[in-house]
Amino acid sequence: MQIRIAGLVPESFVDGDGIRFAIFMQGCRRNCAGCHNPETHALDGGRLIDTEEILAAVKKNPLLDGITLTGGEPLLQVDAANEIARVVKSLGLSVWCYTGYTFEELPTSAQPLLENVDVLIDGEFIERLRDLELQFRGSSNQRIIDIKKTREQNRIVLWEVE
Ligand code: SF4
Repeated sequence: MQIRIAGLVPESFVDGDGIRFAIFMQGCRRNCAGCHNPETHALDGGRLIDTEEILAAVKKNPLLDGITLTGGEPLLQVDAANEIARVVKSLGLSVWCYTGYTFEELPTSAQPLLENVDVLIDGEFIERLRDLELQFRGSSNQRIIDIKKTREQNRIVLWEVE
């Protein structure tokens, strides 16, 4: 399956816990004021790449803790995102995913992907809530959600370092 990306960062230390392969997915309709990645907005921008190519690069690096789906809006290409996430989980690695949706407003189409996501950083970037002290997120409205615990407890459970 092909996926449209803005870029790849094979070893990122800032897009989640540990060493992560960050996939910057192309396309976002939100246009949040102060967005850090405006080049990722155009739906026809970036470049197409085969998901197999990304997975091969992930498999080659034994140092990785996992991958991070970011962008852009990963949910605009939810099937391709899930194809990658599913294989990454089967390798014993973790999957973090950013989205401009809040957890409560996630579309039904995101549910299969959520099965393979460990941590979801939700909500769009709100400039007046921007805080440079925040870890892994840009504004204080965004939450770092532990998806497994959230599903088990049927309430939002925030991620904590283990
Ligand atoms: S959701 Fe993310 S990528 Fe999209 S405009 Fe907002 S900050 Fe930028």
